[in-house]
Amino acid sequence: MFRSIALWFSQQAAATKRQALHLKNKTLALRHLILVLACVATVITLLNGFYVNYQVQKKQLIQHSLDSNYAYAVKLASATGRFLSTAKQQLAYAASNIQLHIYDSQYLDNEANRLRLQTDSFNSIVIANNTGFVLSTSPDTLDIKGRQLKSQGALQAIKEKRPLISAPYISASNNLLIFISHPLYDTESNYIGYVGGSIYLKKHSILDDMLGTHYYKDGSYIYVVDQDRRIIYHPDSHRIGSIVNDNSVIDYVLDGKQGSTATINSQGVEMLAGYAPIPLSNWGVVTQRPVNATLASLDDLMGQVLYRTLPLSVVTFLLIWLLARMIARPLQQLADTAKTMDRPNTHLKLNNVRSWYFESAELKQAMLKGIGLLHSQIGQLRHDASTDPLTGVFNRRSLDLLLSKLEAKHTPFSVLALDIDHFKKVNDTYGHSVGDKALIKLSETMTQLSREQDIVARTGGEEFVLILPGLLSETALPIAERLREQVAQMIIPNIGSIHVSIGISSYTKGLCSSKQILKQADQALYEAKHQGRNRCVVFESTIAEA
Ligand code: GH3
Ligand code: MG
Ligand code: MG
Repeated sequence: MFRSIALWFSQQAAATKRQALHLKNKTLALRHLILVLACVATVITLLNGFYVNYQVQKKQLIQHSLDSNYAYAVKLASATGRFLSTAKQQLAYAASNIQLHIYDSQYLDNEANRLRLQTDSFNSIVIANNTGFVLSTSPDTLDIKGRQLKSQGALQAIKEKRPLISAPYISASNNLLIFISHPLYDTESNYIGYVGGSIYLKKHSILDDMLGTHYYKDGSYIYVVDQDRRIIYHPDSHRIGSIVNDNSVIDYVLDGKQGSTATINSQGVEMLAGYAPIPLSNWGVVTQRPVNATLASLDDLMGQVLYRTLPLSVVTFLLIWLLARMIARPLQQLADTAKTMDRPNTHLKLNNVRSWYFESAELKQAMLKGIGLLHSQIGQLRHDASTDPLTGVFNRRSLDLLLSKLEAKHTPFSVLALDIDHFKKVNDTYGHSVGDKALIKLSETMTQLSREQDIVARTGGEEFVLILPGLLSETALPIAERLREQVAQMIIPNIGSIHVSIGISSYTKGLCSSKQILKQADQALYEAKHQGRNRCVVFESTIAEA
């Protein structure tokens, strides 16, 4: 019984270990799980932060670029508008004087030079009469004095007879220019000609001074279109004079709108454009910057963000990892202990587990309780499996185990095999329960008479064995005699007294096995019965032969 229970426990423990190993191979440990969680959480947080940061910065940079381009376009449009207005005023003022001295060629030359040289507004000045004959020029190198001008600006001035800003055209001296003119009237209000100033578009001019200095190195640029979508200012001089179709920014600005937008330029480059109209001339100013140039600083910025957030992320990760270890540790220890629940020192191991948080402490308590219960049950089972339920002394199974231990240690011992005489009669006369009391009383007497190291066992119905370690038959016989006498003197309620017969045999190293010694003691007991009962007989080889 005991052996099978012990076997069952060891099988269970082995199975638990196998399961644990199997589980360990198949499933992730809590520590690794938390670690994976920490990794994933940290990386996601980092990436998310990075992504959000990137998007916000990008949006801000784009918005900032749009805003500044817009503000810049408005500023340039207003400055250019102011310049045109001033230029027109200059011509108007000059015209008011020139029309009084239209026949004074010296005066006209002086005025033409003054208009050109006093400010940088004009590249050249022309004063012509009402048929387009040039009366004066500045500079006089133009070589058109005395000739009839038929350029677009000249013809328009004569035709319309009002202050004008022309569309760009190629002049007689082969310059692409715009022409700003003011009509001349005599005192009777007859149209007598015009004074006009040209601004060269492809050569250095006031427009370059105003717009060109703001040219960025990073691909940003400004251009100006007239009301016919013709480029009148562009940092790339080859494009000046060309007409731009299919450009929504130009549509907006020539509609008189101002604002900012993302667009794609004629080269297919994504641009962030600001635009503003110049109402005086119906021109439009567009300032634009490539999206790529705007976002160039973003890579740097994100590098900085990564550089600054990485240390904290690493620290966070390490902290989580450390915490994961701390959380998993007591659980791991509890799980390890659970694998060896059947071991006697499990209690100690469990007590040493540092359950520092509520759940692990609860688990530890539950395991301690469970182990206590398990061990007390094992103890009970062991006790039940090794003792005789009626008398409480060892049973046959325990006796065999204890004898094999003595045998293994080569400890000499004597066996007293004891049997109650005519016990059947006792039972028959007084009943089985009274007989049981006699059995209990006998076992008590045997225990009282035995030493601590002696073994008392019930081997059958009314048969007992007393093992006396360290004693040989000669010493065992008087002890057996004393026991027999004691039994005989016992007063058992209802029955009175009983007698026993005792067979004695001894074990010394190497001669016989403990099983044989038991058998010999039985044979001696049989001999005692045979000789008339209520006596002790030491085994001798002659008994075996008999
Ligand atoms: P002997 O002197 O030859 O030993 O005669 P005996 O009557 O003692 O021997 P026998 O083997 O004929 O009878 C043994 C009896 O022991 C039979 C049975 O009634 C009794 N017995 C066996 N086990 C128990 C038990 O647990 N309780 C009681 N009360 N009696 C038992
Ligand atoms: Mg018997
Ligand atoms: Mg008997």
